[in-house]
Amino acid sequence: MVVQKFGGTSVADPDAIRRLLAIARTARTTHGRGPVVVVSAMSRVTDALLTVAADAGAGHLDRALGQIEQLRERHLTTLGALVPAEAAAPLVSIIEDQFDELAAVARALAVLREVSPRTLDVVAAMGELLSSRIVAAAAIQAGLPAEWVDARRAIVTNGDHTSAAPLMRETGAALRASVVPLLDAGRVPVLGGFVGATTAGHTTTLGRGGSDYSGALVGAGVDAAEIQIWTDVDGMLTADPRLIPHPRLVPQLSFAEAAELAYFGAKVLHPSTIHPAVERNIPVRILNSWKPDAAGTLITATAPPTATPLTAMAAKRDVTVVDITSDRMLMAYGFLRQVFEVFERFRTAVDVVTTSEVSVSVTVDDRRNLDAIVEALSDFAEVVVEPEMALLCAVGDRLRNEPAIAARVVRVLEEVPLRMISQAASRRNITVILRQGDLSHAMERLHEEFFT
Ligand code: ADP
Ligand code: ASP
Ligand code: MG
Repeated sequence: MVVQKFGGTSVADPDAIRRLLAIARTARTTHGRGPVVVVSAMSRVTDALLTVAADAGAGHLDRALGQIEQLRERHLTTLGALVPAEAAAPLVSIIEDQFDELAAVARALAVLREVSPRTLDVVAAMGELLSSRIVAAAAIQAGLPAEWVDARRAIVTNGDHTSAAPLMRETGAALRASVVPLLDAGRVPVLGGFVGATTAGHTTTLGRGGSDYSGALVGAGVDAAEIQIWTDVDGMLTADPRLIPHPRLVPQLSFAEAAELAYFGAKVLHPSTIHPAVERNIPVRILNSWKPDAAGTLITATAPPTATPLTAMAAKRDVTVVDITSDRMLMAYGFLRQVFEVFERFRTAVDVVTTSEVSVSVTVDDRRNLDAIVEALSDFAEVVVEPEMALLCAVGDRLRNEPAIAARVVRVLEEVPLRMISQAASRRNITVILRQGDLSHAMERLHEEFFT
C-alpha cells in the first residue's frame, strides 16, 4: 500500500482532481489496498489565507472579506464541477459555514489589530481541511470508497504554532486510530497535509511546504511500501527549473542526498520529508501528476553511483552572512559556545559556518530576530552583517570518495567572488556563499560543467 501526497497544483482545479483520482485508482488496483491520499490546499490558497489574516489584522477588512468571497467561490465551483448538487449538498453547507467562520475571524482580527500565531494556524489550516474534503467527496462520486480524515486527529504536534514539530509517538498512535482502521476496512483515507493539532486540540501547521512532511509522517505511521510525492515537475531535477532553463531529471538518489538538497533549497521536497522515511526505510518517489506513467525520482537508503560527478544542485536566496570577530586577539575557548548560544536564544538556525583564527562567519536565512542577535553578539564581539547573499550547494555521494570533484567545483567558479566555502563531515555537499547578484551566473557555470 502506498501513501500519495498531492501538492497544490495537483489539486488546483476540477481537472487536476480528476487526474489525482485516476492516479489513486491505479495505485489501488496495483496494491490491492489503499492508497492513503494526502493533499495540499488548492494552489495559492495558503498564500491567500495568510494575506486575509494579515489584511484583517492591519485593519483592511474590506480587502480581507473580498478575498474570502473569492476563496469561497473557488472551492464551491470546484466541488460543483466534480459532484452533482444533491450529493454535494452536505459539503456545500460545511464549506459555507467554514467561510462564514473565517469572515467572523477576519472581523475579530480587524478589531483586535493583532494576529497571534495560534489564530494564524486556524486560518492557514483551512486550505488543506477544505481541499481534502472536496477530494474525498469527488473520490466517492467517482466510485472510490474514500473517507475524509480530519488531519487534526491524525497528526499530533507540539505547540510551536506556524512551524509545529510532530510528536512521533503520539502521531503514530493517532494514525493507528484514525487511518489504519479505514485501510483495514478497504477504504481510501483522504486527509489534508500541513495540518495537525496539539494534544490539547489546538490547530497547528507544520511550516510552509509542510504537506510533504505530512505525507511522510503518514507513510511511516501506516508502514507504507512507498511514499509518493506528486507534483508539477518530473521529479528531483539537477537544478531549480526557475533558475536553470533545462535541468535534467535525477532518476535515483539516496536519502542523504535528498535531505541535503531539500535543506539547501530544492523546494520540491520539504526539508523534513526524508526523516520519517529513513526511520522506517520507506522509499520516497517524486512524480509528475501530469505524467502519471513517467518513472519520476526514486529516493532510497542507497542509490547507485550517478553517471555525473554531482547528483544535483540547490540554492537559497536572501541569505544573510554574519561575521563575528572576537574582541580579544584570538578566539578563546568558549567563544563559539557564546556565539551559538545567542543564535539558540533567538531560535534562529544557522546554515553554514566557517572560522578563522579570530572570527567566525555564519549564514542565516531567517532574519526575524537578526537585530536582537546582532545586539547580543555585540556584547562580546565585533559584528558585521551582509545581506543579499546567496547559498549554492552542490550535492552528490561521489563527493565523499572523489576529492577532485570539490576542487573542480571551486575551479569552475574561479571568476565568481566566493564569500565562504564549506564542506561538512558528511562530505556529500560542497556549499559556497556568494553575492545574490552572482547566483544565476554561478549556477549556469556549474550546471554546464557538471550536467551538460
Ligand atoms: P507542490 O505544490 O507540489 O508541493 P512545490 O511548488 O512545493 O510543489 O515544489 C515543486 C517546485 O519545486 C517545482 O515546480 C520547481 O519549481 C521547484 N524546484 C526547486 N528546485 C527543484 C529541483 N531541484 N527539482 C525539482 N523541482 C524543484
Ligand atoms: N499549503 C501549504 C503551503 O502552501 C503546505 C503545502 O502545500 O505543502 O505551504
Ligand atoms: Mg511543496
